[in-house]
Amino acid sequence: MTAKQILPGATLGVLGGGQLGRMFCVAARTMGYRVVVLDPDPHCGAGHIADMHICADYTDQYALQEMAGQCDAITLEFENIPSESVRFIADKTTVYPVAESLEIAQNRDLEKQFAQKAGLQPAPYLAIQQESDLRKAADKVGFPAILKSNTMGYDGKGQYVVNNYSELGDAYADVGKVDCVLEKKIDIRCEISAIVARNAAAEMASFPVSENQHRNGILHMSIVPARVSDEITQLAIENASLLADAMSYVGILAVEFFVSDDDTLYFNEMAPRPHNSGHYTRDACVTSQFEQQVRMMCGLKPGDTRLMSPVVMVNMLGDLWLPDWLIIFTRNNVKLHLYGKTEARPGRKMGHFNVLAEDVGSALIEAESVFNALSGD
Ligand code: ATP
Ligand code: MG
Repeated sequence: MTAKQILPGATLGVLGGGQLGRMFCVAARTMGYRVVVLDPDPHCGAGHIADMHICADYTDQYALQEMAGQCDAITLEFENIPSESVRFIADKTTVYPVAESLEIAQNRDLEKQFAQKAGLQPAPYLAIQQESDLRKAADKVGFPAILKSNTMGYDGKGQYVVNNYSELGDAYADVGKVDCVLEKKIDIRCEISAIVARNAAAEMASFPVSENQHRNGILHMSIVPARVSDEITQLAIENASLLADAMSYVGILAVEFFVSDDDTLYFNEMAPRPHNSGHYTRDACVTSQFEQQVRMMCGLKPGDTRLMSPVVMVNMLGDLWLPDWLIIFTRNNVKLHLYGKTEARPGRKMGHFNVLAEDVGSALIEAESVFNALSGD
């Protein structure tokens, strides 16, 4: 099948104007496309880069209609865009990922079921729809476990580590008795992610696997190549590809995994968009995840995903703002990326930096030293 190819001069749209939308806009404009962003925040970071910012809610049909009228293809930067909005514009123009993929990724229970059917292995879990499911879930999963709300979770929000039945009851009440999953707490050796790209002609490419370290539930650092065995690396890429094929997915799909102490690979969750753990690709790969997003929605072949240098990406949060920029700029192998946010808040992602070095060990030592210096340590 030959999919429609959308070429420079055409207009691309992105739903959501945070940092992912902004980096998409940079890539699309660099490649010669016009870009429209829709985001309700008048100060959103992508609005500074886009040719046009439609400042409206994601459910505003008038605004969606206007966007669809302008754009040859539309994509999104976060999975909690209402799928009805995506359906609404899909009648009018090309949208990737499609609403069905989005609906799977919006719901933890659905995504785990789907992953299981595709041959992946989530941590043992049970869905909780009512109070009486708690006992059954506790018996099957055991403690310690993690209660997670099915929808709207990010950066560890809506999650409770529970050590006994009484804590589970309290957590369920605290989360508002919404639909949840109770998931076994895995003894994690490390966390990794695999990002794959797939176009409408089913051509695929996968980025190098990243090893991800979190702090307070938020990604702190990505290390590439990941320090895991070739078998685990291959399995993660195969798993992500299986999942993309099973959904007939079009776009960028990021899949997070746990590697347990006994070297089992567990599926954690997926994101139907570029991912924080793929920001290293902007400096260290032949093609960045954002250029790849443009290529996929435009029906083009995936770009080369080859890693040109070992790299460590470190997130910069609003906790320590403003940092001393010269700590970064006096080094010739550290690349700064800021998201254009004017207001710094604790935990808010303000930017990141990539450290490129001869080997991953040196990149890691330097990344830690830059981070500590920026933190004033
Ligand atoms: P984000 O969208 O930012 O990745 P999230 O809110 O969707 O986060 P998860 O990815 O489900 O949350 O979990 C956040 C972190 O909590 C994981 O990266 C991992 O460190 C830890 N965690 C989650 N589930 C488990 C588990 N079953 N066993 C052990 N640790 C876990
Ligand atoms: Mg996660």
